[in-house]
Amino acid sequence: MSPKRVLVVGGVAGGASCAARLRRLDEQAEIVVFEKGPYPSFANCGLPYYVGDIISDEAQLLVATPDLFRTRFNIEVRPEQEVLRIHRGEKRIEVKDLRSGSVYQEAYDALVLSPGALPVRPALPGGELAGVFTVRTIPDSRAIRAWIDEVHAKKAVIVGGGFIGLEMAENLACRGLKVAIVEMCDQVMPPLDREMAEYVYVHLMDNHVSVHLGDAVARFEGSEGHVTSVVTQSGARLQADVVILSVGVKPETRLAQDAGLEIGSRGGIRVDESMRTSDPCIWAVGDAVEVRDVVTGEFCLVPLAGPANRQGRIAAAAICGRPARFRGVQATAVCGAFGLTVATTGVSEKRLLQAKNTNYEAVYLHPTDHANYYPGAKTMHLKLIFRRSDGLVLGAQAVGEQGVERRIDVISFAIQRGSTVFDLEEAELCYAPQFGSAKDPVNLAGMIAANVLRGDLSFARWSDLPNGDAFLLDVPEEKEFRRGSIDGAINIPLGQLRQRLCALPRDRSIWVNCGVGQRSYYAVRVLRQNGFAAQNLSGGYNTWGVWYPDGLPSAKSEIKQAGQNGVPPLPGQAARSAES
Ligand code: FAD
Repeated sequence: MSPKRVLVVGGVAGGASCAARLRRLDEQAEIVVFEKGPYPSFANCGLPYYVGDIISDEAQLLVATPDLFRTRFNIEVRPEQEVLRIHRGEKRIEVKDLRSGSVYQEAYDALVLSPGALPVRPALPGGELAGVFTVRTIPDSRAIRAWIDEVHAKKAVIVGGGFIGLEMAENLACRGLKVAIVEMCDQVMPPLDREMAEYVYVHLMDNHVSVHLGDAVARFEGSEGHVTSVVTQSGARLQADVVILSVGVKPETRLAQDAGLEIGSRGGIRVDESMRTSDPCIWAVGDAVEVRDVVTGEFCLVPLAGPANRQGRIAAAAICGRPARFRGVQATAVCGAFGLTVATTGVSEKRLLQAKNTNYEAVYLHPTDHANYYPGAKTMHLKLIFRRSDGLVLGAQAVGEQGVERRIDVISFAIQRGSTVFDLEEAELCYAPQFGSAKDPVNLAGMIAANVLRGDLSFARWSDLPNGDAFLLDVPEEKEFRRGSIDGAINIPLGQLRQRLCALPRDRSIWVNCGVGQRSYYAVRVLRQNGFAAQNLSGGYNTWGVWYPDGLPSAKSEIKQAGQNGVPPLPGQAARSAES
């Protein structure tokens, strides 16, 4: 039997990973990779840092060269070769050599598509002006670097406040540019729930990034053919020497569509669990495909490098006749911006609500990344979402300066393995004072959630506050209480609670609050065991600050007063008042 001939379209994350794995599984196969760009296997994820000059040597972005593929793996990689068409009947592809312009044909036994996704470029007036960029390739980032130098750029506008937008904001600021972000949603980092994104917003403002939420670009204005400003739908005019469009990507499905392969409801190539398309001889991986979400079971598009690489390996195994199954995605992602880490896994609360799924609970906590007594501990903000009926972990989001990604990784794996909050409570994680706590934030999240499900922790959500008529009890010390509290709350410090129970009503719900929700939990235990209908306000004032960044209507005056007295305002207040 003659060796199998496998052709791969796209030579970066999914394609390169598939080709290399194929070789390890089949020494005889003939493997050819076609890449329309000049570089196969480059580090797309490093591009923002190349713009920011944190990676200053472009060669560092080249993970593997065609030479290395040939010598190490006996794989032929052909850069600047665009695959134009798939002739499924004859099992061949049509390829254009972008250097010479000639078109040729290649036959395959198996074909792998990993063409990635295209950055969305909204059709806006002025979008063609020089200085308006998207970031996908090394030449894109090289062009941005050159443009910044050429025009001595001082001001940048980033359109879109998602992962790439934030990374570009940081890197352009690193280059000394004044950065503004325009984001159509009412929050940055749309995968996060709004209140968690508030921490990121505040941090951006603290780092002198001006963030325009709930506003969209109407047009770009220019002079002498290059961009000079961005005009938003609200009428704001932001000066810009350079504009970065980072409003998302769409799967590159042209080849697949033209070949009549099945395209799914989300617009990606439809594949089965072994990454095989509707044609038994064609596999597809990476940003171009839609795959099942582990949590919701729905098809989704998750343009991330990890899934693309894993799918490449699975397609290779399937092509070699091995049993291989892609488990699905959870959109586990992390992003750094100005020293803050933002990470998420699984489903968000807003997605559950969109799907009209109300069988869930969400708890907030604000632990430190390592033992408080060891120098340098930093607070992180963590939200855990779990199924009310059985405690299945559904999602988590975390924001903080240190240790965030480790916790989200643990929870991500818990989700993938179908774990519950009771598993998180019991998870054995490494600990020494400089790395964590004997009760790790992941354990704490599990404990809080498990307490809720066992009925040991009755809790209220800050979102319920405007509608409830509960008695509001604050249990921090008096001096903390004086710094600011919500209107109507009365203060009984935790240490005095047992002596002052007679001051509390027995015929009303009592919502108990403190700085982060820990002392109030202790208070709730005291109160409930004394017959009171007490509930803990999850996450305490820290979470309140992000739920109500502008203050509750009735609480505004008090907060203002707190700030005027020279007392530090509550979380979220600082940046908002700086903005106004
Ligand atoms: P790609 O890696 O994009 O490769 C597709 C290749 O196919 C392209 O090089 C393209 O030229 C080629 N191609 C397309 N059509 C043809 C054709 N007809 N013929 C020949 N070649 C073709 N993900 C993370 O998980 N973490 C990050 O930090 C992160 N940061 C990112 C930062 C930036 C700026 C960008 C752009 C992406 C980032 N990503 C990140 C996303 C990640 O890079 C992608 O999810 C991943 O590269 C997808 O792999 P892929 O193989 O599907 O597509």
